[in-house]
Amino acid sequence: MLTLEVDRLTKTQRFRVEKYKNDIRIVPDLSTKSNTQNPMFHPSVIAETKKRILVILAMTDGAVLLLSGGLAYILAGRTLKPIKEMVEDQNQFISDASHEFRTPLTSLKSSFEVYLREKNPSLSEAKSIMVESLSEVDKMQNLSDALLQLAQYQKPNGHTNFESVSIKELINEVVRKIKPIAVKREITIIQEVKDVEVVGNKDSLIELFVILVDNALKYSPSKSSVLIKAEKKGSMVTVSVRDKGVGIEEKDIPHIFDRFYRSDSARSKLKATGYGLGLSIAKKIVNLHHGRIYVESKQNKGSVFIVQLPKAPKGVI
Ligand code: ADP
Repeated sequence: MLTLEVDRLTKTQRFRVEKYKNDIRIVPDLSTKSNTQNPMFHPSVIAETKKRILVILAMTDGAVLLLSGGLAYILAGRTLKPIKEMVEDQNQFISDASHEFRTPLTSLKSSFEVYLREKNPSLSEAKSIMVESLSEVDKMQNLSDALLQLAQYQKPNGHTNFESVSIKELINEVVRKIKPIAVKREITIIQEVKDVEVVGNKDSLIELFVILVDNALKYSPSKSSVLIKAEKKGSMVTVSVRDKGVGIEEKDIPHIFDRFYRSDSARSKLKATGYGLGLSIAKKIVNLHHGRIYVESKQNKGSVFIVQLPKAPKGVI
C-alpha cells in the first residue's frame, strides 16, 4: 500500500511537470528556486501523501494488533482447555474419593462415641464394635487399594512390560482366583476359550478379567451361570463375560465406566459392595492395550461385557 502511495505521488509529479512544460514550453531552472517556490513541487501534495501514509500505517497496525490479539486469545484458550479439564477432573476425583472415605469413617466414629458414652460398657459390646469396625476398615483398605490401582494405570509409562499372553492360561488363572466366590454363591463358570494369544501385560490383563467376572458374579442370582468366551475375530481377540443377572438400565450404560459411578439399583436394592471403580480401572487397562471394551445389557435378563484386544502377531514371544 505504501508503494502504491509512492507511485501515486510520482504520477502526480510527472503530470505536473508535463503540464508545466506544455503551459510555458520552457523548462525552468529548478536549481535556482527552493522546493516550496518551485511551481512543480506543491507542498500540499507532499503533505497529503504523508497523511495518507500515516492513515494507512495506523489502520494496518491496528488491524494486525486486533487480529493477533484475537488469535492469541483463541489459541491460549485452546491450549489451556485440556489443562483446565484435567484440573477439574482432579478436583472431582479428590472430592469423590473423600466422600467415599467419609462414610466408613463416620460410621467408625459414631460407634466409638456411642460406646464411650455408656457408663458401664461391657466387654462383649466392645468386641462387637471391634468386629463392626474391622469391616469398615476393610472397606477403606479396599477403597485405597482401588484408588492406588487407578492411579497406577493413569501413569503414562506404567505397565508397559508387554509380552505374548495366552488367553486360555490367563482365563484359567482368573477362574482359579475367583472360584471361591463362585462356589460360595453357587454360580457355575463356563469357559469356551480358544487357544489365542494377545500382546499385553499379563498381570494387568488378569486384573481386567477378574473385575469383569467378579462383577458378573456380584450382579447375578445364586445358582445361575457365567459364560466366559474367547475367540479370534480378524486382527482382534474378543473375550466376553456373559451373566444372567440383574442387567443394567439403559440410562446407566453410558456412565458405568466412569469413576465412582454406581447404578441406583447397585447402590440401594442390591447389597453388592463396591465403589464404582472396577470398570473404570478395567477401561484404563483396555486402553493401555489399545483395545476396546463395551457392554450389551437388558434389565433383568443379564449383561455381556465384551473386550477386544489386538492379537499377537505371528512370531512374537
Ligand atoms: P462396583 O464396584 O459398583 O461394581 P464397577 O465400576 O465395577 O463398580 O461397576 C459400576 C456399575 O456398573 C455397578 O455399580 C453396576 O451398577 C454396573 N455393573 C457392572 N457390572 C455389572 C453386571 N455384570 N451386571 C449388572 N450391572 C453391572
